[in-house]
Amino acid sequence: CGIVAYTGQKDAYPIIIKGLKRLEYRGYDSTGVALLNGGLNVYKKKGKVSELESHLQHEHLSGNIGIGHTRWATHGEPNDVNAHPHYSASKNLAIIHNGIIENYSVIKQDLINKGHIFLSETDSEVLIHFIEDIQKKAQCSLEEAVRLALQEVVGAYAIVIMSRDSPRKLIAARKGSPLVIGVGKDEYFLASDATPIIEYTNEVIYLDDHQIAVISDNQLDIKNLEDIHIIPYVHKLELEL
Ligand code: GLU
Repeated sequence: CGIVAYTGQKDAYPIIIKGLKRLEYRGYDSTGVALLNGGLNVYKKKGKVSELESHLQHEHLSGNIGIGHTRWATHGEPNDVNAHPHYSASKNLAIIHNGIIENYSVIKQDLINKGHIFLSETDSEVLIHFIEDIQKKAQCSLEEAVRLALQEVVGAYAIVIMSRDSPRKLIAARKGSPLVIGVGKDEYFLASDATPIIEYTNEVIYLDDHQIAVISDNQLDIKNLEDIHIIPYVHKLELEL
């Protein structure tokens, strides 16, 4: 139900945890974080953000890029496995998702027939397997695979995807669930609303439905599902200091 992601020069983990706490008012049952730090490391647990935090207090949690999620279960009971982030089949990609993929069971069956094994009962895990499957088949970039996958998806989503193979890239998209991009100096933030972002920057972009944002090597590029580039409007938030 809440999304926070970061890419820049700072340590991602404290920014993500603090941001997820600011989104707690939205309600949730589980918490998870993925960090890129050489490998792609996923930490997730049923329960509060503070419970995940104390569970991880002896872990080495460095990394300048990461994604975090608080889940309000719609498909699959609240437990550690169904918590986000979810992996693709090769474990190269991780996704966080708010919303519901309504046609997930048709896509899932097709992927099972191709040999995919699913760990969770969520609709969200199906989406990241689907994206990887399309990327392999079409031999295209990750952002193009996301675009092609979302053209097939029925439902509502705010998603953020991170890739072990592209350690300076975040891909985000929305339809029917909010997603805000914070534009900092050599850093970007993504969140369900601006509250996790405002202490770092007052420049935000509200992603619209059917838009995909690609943040790569500190460049932001937004396009729509028809592959048309969008010039974003950067809002200046009034900071209460
Ligand atoms: N449908 C997804 C799930 O059940 C995402 C729920 C949410 O918005 O947190 O895992």
